[in-house]
Amino acid sequence: MTLFDLTGKTALFTGGGGGIGLAMAKGLAAHGAEVVLVGRNREKLDAAAAGIVAAKGQAQIAVCDLLDTAALEALVAETEARHGGIDILINNAGIQHRQPALDIADADWGRVLETNLTIPFRLARAVGRGMVGRGSGKIINTLSVLSSLGRPSVVPYTAAKGGLKMLTKGLAVELAPSGLQVNGIAPGYILTEMNTALSQDRAFSDWLTARTPARRWGQPEDLVGAAVFLASAASDFVTGHVLTVDGGMTASV
Ligand code: NDP
Repeated sequence: MTLFDLTGKTALFTGGGGGIGLAMAKGLAAHGAEVVLVGRNREKLDAAAAGIVAAKGQAQIAVCDLLDTAALEALVAETEARHGGIDILINNAGIQHRQPALDIADADWGRVLETNLTIPFRLARAVGRGMVGRGSGKIINTLSVLSSLGRPSVVPYTAAKGGLKMLTKGLAVELAPSGLQVNGIAPGYILTEMNTALSQDRAFSDWLTARTPARRWGQPEDLVGAAVFLASAASDFVTGHVLTVDGGMTASV
């Protein structure tokens, strides 16, 4: 337990109200972290936090549309003031826009890039300053198998997640001398709200299970071990790494 003990640590989770973010937050809370769940939907966040508290964890919520940069900066300042600093930042909020590339409007391209790539940068910049001042901190970015694989009709998403992979590596190199670790978790296809439509598409599901050596969709809980490892002292000499959690999808041709 000691190696993975997160007692006394504050973890800020974007997209913490459901799906992958909530599963990872539950995992960190079970290892002692106080988690701050960020999202736009208060009801979802309240329910998520109540579940963690019922399991004897510590959770708070922060309602924030991260596309509002002033609100993002206020969120970081308030969280730092309340908790005496943010030890772990999990950049997990993300959106998809499914459309053939040649039909995509600038506004949709921009929204996907801003949410999946620019917001993680802004948060890393804002939270990273405090971490550098304290000489320690963990930044974990939720990437995707689509950080490395091309797929049709999700081109802004693959561009953003590919960029997020290189943001992870660049920050890792720059911030390692200050005692920070910056890593990525790259999930395969996971059954969450984001994939509601896809999971009901029989042809897609058949393709996916055939393409994945583990022969199944991922569940949000599949990401917990990777998140706890990268948030804890167990990974203090691991930085710039992408931990892929995809049932072998990207290992196979
Ligand atoms: P969900 O749609 O369940 O979660 C996405 C979260 O992002 C929501 O909680 C949403 O909050 C939050 N969010 C989006 N935009 C904003 C914003 N502007 N401000 C604040 N919060 C925002 O999907 P998943 O759990 O599946 O996805 C989590 C991460 O994992 C994403 O980065 C996704 O790209 C990545 N991923 C998912 C995979 C999958 O197969 N599901 C595979 C690989 C990567 P709210 O609901 O409150 O609006």
